[in-house]
Amino acid sequence: MAAALPICLLDGVFVPAQDARVSPFDRGFLFGDGVYEVIPCFNAKPFRLAAHLDRLQAGLDALQIANPHSRAQWTKLVHELIAVNGVGNIGLYLEITRGAGSGRDFLPQADLKPTVFGFCWPLAPARNADLERGISGATLDDIRWLRCDIKSVALLAPVLLRMQARDRGADEAILIHDGRLAEGSSSAVFIVEAGRIVSPPASHERLPSITRLVVIEAAAALQLPLDAREVDRAELDGADEIWIASSTRDVMPVVRLDKHAVGDGKPGPLWRRVYAQVQAIKRRETR
Ligand code: PLP
Repeated sequence: MAAALPICLLDGVFVPAQDARVSPFDRGFLFGDGVYEVIPCFNAKPFRLAAHLDRLQAGLDALQIANPHSRAQWTKLVHELIAVNGVGNIGLYLEITRGAGSGRDFLPQADLKPTVFGFCWPLAPARNADLERGISGATLDDIRWLRCDIKSVALLAPVLLRMQARDRGADEAILIHDGRLAEGSSSAVFIVEAGRIVSPPASHERLPSITRLVVIEAAAALQLPLDAREVDRAELDGADEIWIASSTRDVMPVVRLDKHAVGDGKPGPLWRRVYAQVQAIKRRETR
């Protein structure tokens, strides 16, 4: 990931990144008590902003944190944060924590003011080499908690999993939960089996990925068959194609899983079609 662009959003004010300060008593720092969003922006326009703000609201509701901003205010802040940092393709991060208390009580004080932090970074397009050659995945036991549907800032497990995947020479950790495919450490996962795309459905074991919905739309536009159902370990190992999808990594073909090649070890034909369709959707919506 590239370095942060110069201007951050902190509690409604735009400040230089080096001047942004948060209290060490902030519950985001002490407990990971907060939620976040990552919004991809193309051509300086946020892509699927409404879906990201809906998921942010769902996370705040789950944590019983009152949303500090209306939908209109969020929309304005997001556009302003993009504008003060320039144009082009940008990743935009928003975090809301429960705020800073006077000490460290597990039970939050009632009168806390949520902390709002946002920053951007230049979003690099997928590398041509990755698109031509594909990327690799390492299967690992899903050691995360039981509410993976919440986009919580408490991300220790995915951090450790990504480090383990890297140590095995892989680009992403593909997580296995009770013998079934959960998702990637920070991505949704699709497989292709006998010409059908399979996507594990939303559940408390997975983040409701917004890119997953874009891929599903792309497959529908191409009239490709897609099943939303669980995938077991044997199906994952025998898949003809495996893809990962996320807001910042797009839809990428996984051509190696652990020590074996996926399919013929090259990006697959269905991935090529879906990838092109996803790019067309993004271009259409962010012209
Ligand atoms: N699953 C997890 C655990 C993630 O962290 C992410 C994104 O960071 C995704 C899936 C993909 O979600 P989205 O497509 O909304 O970026």
